[in-house]
Amino acid sequence: MIKALRGMKDIIEDSDKFTYFIKKSSEIAENFCFEYIETPLLEETRLFKRSVGESSDIVNKEMYQFTDKGGNDVCLRPEGTAGVVRAYIEHKFDKLKTPKQWYYFGPMFRYERPQKGRLREFHQFGVESFGEESVYEDIKVILLASKILDSFNINYTLKINSLGCDECRPTYMNSLVSFLDEKKENLCEDCQRRITQNPLRVLDCKNENCQNELKTAPKITYNLCENCNKDFEILQNELKKLNIQFEVDTNLVRGLDYYNKTAFEFVSTEIGAQSAICGGGRYDKLVEMLNGKPVPAVGFAMGIERLLPLVNIEPKREGIYLGIMTEDARDMALNKFNELTNSNKVYFENRVRKLNQHLKKADKLNCKKVMIIGEDELKNGTFWEKEL
Ligand code: ATP
Ligand code: MG
Repeated sequence: MIKALRGMKDIIEDSDKFTYFIKKSSEIAENFCFEYIETPLLEETRLFKRSVGESSDIVNKEMYQFTDKGGNDVCLRPEGTAGVVRAYIEHKFDKLKTPKQWYYFGPMFRYERPQKGRLREFHQFGVESFGEESVYEDIKVILLASKILDSFNINYTLKINSLGCDECRPTYMNSLVSFLDEKKENLCEDCQRRITQNPLRVLDCKNENCQNELKTAPKITYNLCENCNKDFEILQNELKKLNIQFEVDTNLVRGLDYYNKTAFEFVSTEIGAQSAICGGGRYDKLVEMLNGKPVPAVGFAMGIERLLPLVNIEPKREGIYLGIMTEDARDMALNKFNELTNSNKVYFENRVRKLNQHLKKADKLNCKKVMIIGEDELKNGTFWEKEL
């Protein structure tokens, strides 16, 4: 038997939750005036190397990378932002810093060790906003994420941090690196490597021992420049006013290299160890890193598979059950089916059945209304109707 690849899944049992999630999230994004964008699943490998960064786990070990028949070095997208930024630049929106607010959803591919909440093909719903440098855009994007989660009654903790900017980060990095150098012996192998490659990433190491060592590490939020500090205060004040609960987590740096200033993550305590359900933040340098004109941007991505166990759909009666009790009624029923499906959900049972058999099935299918044609109805051109 041929099976799906390890870490890849058919969405069958949860497909109603999956489509409901996408429909509802898209609706909310559109209420925020975000427009839909679709980008290819396959991109040049160097797009991800340059944006996600050579020192990230994604590029280091998780990419589905291969050479295509034309000899091109290509890669199945591990995340959505890089492709959307590529599109923004390719369609020349960067030239005039045209503001663009986009949402997307679709599959992402990462060659990770499969486990609960961690797949090799998984789906994200994400948004990206270009051209707005104000912290109020960060607030808008966080509000959007929280509205989506609220609409499914999902309990979450929102963690926020500021990663500073070109002005304040270098000084902070120097003090962080000196601190880490002193602790080097006690840190895990990955962290020892990160000290030179990507020191900020040491801060969110999942290793408990490393986290203990890091308790006394210098905190970026105490080392922000005036501008970053002011924005971080505004962010916190506005979130409070909007009644969005949050925690400041000075170790939250996110796995990807391109973030600056606001970084945030929504986590759930109800789905086990892989608890991150949505990650995002500001990435003002990324458009420029991909050879565009400098354009500020902010966005987030949600992991749909991790969210689905938290989504509940109330089963409700809906749709029409259409059935026949005599073979001759088939044409009349088919005509009705054709007419009704223009604006109704209709289950057309094409087997001839007795009335109580039809009713039983309609009930099982949770239909709201039953329409049946028997001998009498066929003669009169009418339907026997009943609300369930
Ligand atoms: P994690 O720390 O769990 O590896 P991440 O930082 O790699 O997450 P992002 O790159 O920020 O995740 O992706 C955004 C969201 O996508 C995550 O919050 C998570 O919900 C989801 N996600 C990431 N990797 C996977 C995966 N392998 N399988 C399922 N969902 C995933
Ligand atoms: Mg990861």
